[in-house]
Amino acid sequence: MALKTTEAIVLKAFNWSESSRTVHFFTRDQGKLSLVDKGGRQVKSKRGRLVPFAKLEITYYSSEKDSTGYISDCLLIEAFSFEGDGSLGRLAYASAAVEILFSLLTEKEAQASLYQQTIQFLSLTEKSNKQVLPVLFLSYFSRLLTLLGYEPSLEICVGCGRSYTGITESAIEFSPERGGVVCSSCQTAGEYYIPTSQESHKLLVALQCLTLQEAIGLPIGYREVTNLLEMMLKFVSYQTGIKAELKSLDFLEKLKNSNSSQ
Ligand SMILES: [Zn+2]
Repeated sequence: MALKTTEAIVLKAFNWSESSRTVHFFTRDQGKLSLVDKGGRQVKSKRGRLVPFAKLEITYYSSEKDSTGYISDCLLIEAFSFEGDGSLGRLAYASAAVEILFSLLTEKEAQASLYQQTIQFLSLTEKSNKQVLPVLFLSYFSRLLTLLGYEPSLEICVGCGRSYTGITESAIEFSPERGGVVCSSCQTAGEYYIPTSQESHKLLVALQCLTLQEAIGLPIGYREVTNLLEMMLKFVSYQTGIKAELKSLDFLEKLKNSNSSQ
């Protein structure tokens, strides 16, 4: 077995005995990586703690054969704490991001750019004003889909390839199932569409190219962001089949309710 070191974020842990567990990481060098944590659940464990929502440096043994490697040591580089103003919302957005990563990342497939974006997202989720958290999450989610190859078709009709640049229709119909916008001549009776206003549509297109830092400066209302988020989550559910596992949809609903009751 070879000893390796990489930066990583904890995605999820599954306990399978009183002392041991399997921990799934998002690593900088290898994408999703599942490692056995022998004795890691014991209080006396000598290595550093596997802090959630933190940039860690992990050292692990990896086998040449296909068997799962195991954690040797762990060092905390930077922890993102979501205390203070809007703490629950911050934690909810960060948890949703980690949950989506766990569901969509492929084992041992490097996603260096997405890894950096994720660190930046966690850092901004910790530091930014709570009012910008929804658009920050939407922006991160949009970047994540693009980087993982699930980008929805927003500028070209998925049916006929007609361009949506300069379009004047008041509502643009988005089909989560077909993976993008569908023009009026390509729509079929009984098919499910999410109507999107011109402004929302423009915003989604813009988010595909803006950095997270740029996105949080966009003037966008809470209702609009949550509608767009719902649309993107439905799109992901259809395209990847992870619907059953995606608690983020519930979380979004709860956030909506808590916001409207204020
Ligand atoms: Zn069309």
